[in-house]
Amino acid sequence: MMRESKSVLLENIVKEYISQENKSVFTAVNNISLKIEAGDFVTLLGPSGCGKTTTLRMIAGFEEVTSGNIYLGNDNVNEVTPDKRDTTMVFQSYALFPHYTIYDNIAYGLKIKKMNKDEIKKKTEKILDLVGLNGMENRYPNQLSGGQQQRVALARALVMEPGVLLFDEPLSNLDAKLRVVMRNEIRRIQKTLGLTSVYVTHDQAEAMSLSDKIIIMNKGNIEQIGTPTEIYQQPASEFVADFIGVANFVDGVIDHIGKDFLDVTMLGQSIKLPLKGNKPRCEGDKIRLVIRPEAITIGHEGDYDGLVESSMFMGSVQDYTVRVDNEILKIEDSNPISKTVFNIGEKVKVSLKEESIHIL
Ligand code: ATP
Repeated sequence: MMRESKSVLLENIVKEYISQENKSVFTAVNNISLKIEAGDFVTLLGPSGCGKTTTLRMIAGFEEVTSGNIYLGNDNVNEVTPDKRDTTMVFQSYALFPHYTIYDNIAYGLKIKKMNKDEIKKKTEKILDLVGLNGMENRYPNQLSGGQQQRVALARALVMEPGVLLFDEPLSNLDAKLRVVMRNEIRRIQKTLGLTSVYVTHDQAEAMSLSDKIIIMNKGNIEQIGTPTEIYQQPASEFVADFIGVANFVDGVIDHIGKDFLDVTMLGQSIKLPLKGNKPRCEGDKIRLVIRPEAITIGHEGDYDGLVESSMFMGSVQDYTVRVDNEILKIEDSNPISKTVFNIGEKVKVSLKEESIHIL
């Protein structure tokens, strides 16, 4: 029986680093607040230096907060040391003990806790099974592949039955195929155990596939919190739209506001767009629109004239850039093998799927 998973609450968290040389202050995390429900898998995603690792390390207690409060469950843990916080972290570097067997690596934390031998054996064997390392318990870390070592690192964290499991870019050292295998494994195990998980990555595919919620960070601030679908379909800012997936940005003007639609002029034409969200809009407003590449169709028929500027076969899709009304649009056409493929310099027609256009 696992111990209970805990929620995580960050309240107005600030982290400042003070430079030793010139005593200048650098704000790595700038007053962020968020709630992670017990049992949820949440990813902190953002470019290098945005403050995601610092945030994770503050939850673990490896870094002190400059101000603000951290709660695990109902408890304020600001003053609680990492070993007493009911969190365990899976590191990018695995951090295994090279001279310990796999079994002893996994059982280490339980031995430190002075658990009795039979109990340790029971728990360790159960976890070995869960992460698919049965039969490897007597090997040493250097006798395992990178993927297997990462499983040991995961097992060592899981065996502690933490209230919150923390992951610091755990798959960065694996090759692309193995990353996909391991991320599916992590998700399976997390779901099986119902573990609250906070996962740091700068890999958007990893974040999209693993998370119940994604927290997009930029320069120490939170840009958006949402499900993968919300983040992709309704990005809160140009930064988010650009960071997640591929986006076309187009300028437009609101000509008329109807009951549940907007008349917008963009790409030299008027278009009716469904009215979504509750952002206040006025007629005459200049707006910025996000159009995903798969929301544009290309063919001999369509609403806009276009000129193909690049055309690339990518296997499952044909990637185009097409000039439309002096804007360059990125287009992704699926199943290119069964369709006409257009070449550079060809005149084409393109159409937009109105329901997929998002107004920032
Ligand atoms: P990455 O993906 O590169 O690890 P990150 O989003 O995890 O990036 P953090 O490691 O949280 O970023 O760092 C945020 C900012 O704080 C960076 O600009 C970093 O240089 C700075 N920083 C982190 N740790 C320290 C420290 N101990 N002293 C001073 N500055 C630090």
